[in-house]
Amino acid sequence: MVLHQNGDDYLLALLEQLRSLLSQPLKLKGQIVDCGFYAGVSLFPVDGINIEQLHQRALSALHRAYTETPRNRYYFYDNSMEGLASRRLKIAALLNTGQMLEELELHYQPLVCTKSGETVGCEALARWQNDELGFIPPPEFISVAEKNGQIIELGELILQRACLQLKEWQKIEPQLQMSVNISPLQVMDTDFISVIKNALQLSGISPGSLKLEVTEQLMLQSNNDVLNKLNAIKQLGVQLVIDDFGVGYASLNYLCGYPFEVLKIDQSFIRNITQEESLYTLTATITELAHSLGLKVVAEGVETEEIAMLLQQMGCDLMQGYLFSRPLPADAFLERLKGQGQS
Ligand code: C2E
Ligand code: CA
Ligand code: CA
Repeated sequence: MVLHQNGDDYLLALLEQLRSLLSQPLKLKGQIVDCGFYAGVSLFPVDGINIEQLHQRALSALHRAYTETPRNRYYFYDNSMEGLASRRLKIAALLNTGQMLEELELHYQPLVCTKSGETVGCEALARWQNDELGFIPPPEFISVAEKNGQIIELGELILQRACLQLKEWQKIEPQLQMSVNISPLQVMDTDFISVIKNALQLSGISPGSLKLEVTEQLMLQSNNDVLNKLNAIKQLGVQLVIDDFGVGYASLNYLCGYPFEVLKIDQSFIRNITQEESLYTLTATITELAHSLGLKVVAEGVETEEIAMLLQQMGCDLMQGYLFSRPLPADAFLERLKGQGQS
């Protein structure tokens, strides 16, 4: 696009208009489709004097917009973005290589029963430390893997490792449960049910001790295939958790129309319930509503005793957060389990 005098104003207006149009779900052929808006902008001649350079820099700005939350952003290129695009390319190149699979670790964050204070389960969280790139935060490499389709294999590996680990730990704590994060793309993959069955068979854990955490992003796809898949997972006896509840669109419809058994209230609510009365009221109301629909409630991001006490009063079932423990490497989690057995 060629911009004339005052071109920046025109461009800003255009970006804002596109953002407001594309930030909401669209109805296409009777189906609600989740839309997102991301844009990266580079300007001639400040950011480059030829097409290749301008394109590369617009891509770097686009990567920044895409990887940051909240969604629906645009960025103008600046020098701090140099290298961002190439970092994502390196991540993509490393994903699924033998080296990455060796470097990938799972850490486990305890889920604590509000009534007894005991660790009754854990959430598996992926960790990747690479010599060249350093620590790569999970949202960063998961988003690259989602973009490139590599999440299917990666997600399967994570699920298998988590199930095998649970089998080991159940020798000490037979009732222990394992929660695994699942990308919407995994659920939509045609083989997903077989992937779950394989992981259960390979590890020998009972389906009832596995929980799969999905976010409402999945339901925004809103098609029968997703609903059928979720019903089939429930049929297997595996529990479904709706993660990050309260952010995004959080339609109450998801609680009634989909086979969830657990609702996980987002950390952004929990962390601020002592400061903002409206968040306290919302959390209490969500908990009550979830209970009346037969769902268990997990609060994540519990960082203080005061918050834990409020959640206990609300009747929240499970808690997770730095107050109890950060995500732990497998051996440290095992020590914690053993310690619990002795107390
Ligand atoms: P999530 O599923 O919402 O995971 C919870 C995140 O909150 C974790 O960050 C955890 O370390 C952090 N957290 C837990 N308690 C507290 C607390 O008290 N205070 C604060 N400030 N943070 C707390 P982490 O491990 O960086 O994971 C971030 C996200 O990456 C996860 O969000 C999940 O969406 C994604 N992720 C992680 N592992 C996997 C995976 O194996 N597969 C998929 N698909 N996504 C994953
Ligand atoms: Ca989660
Ligand atoms: Ca969460």
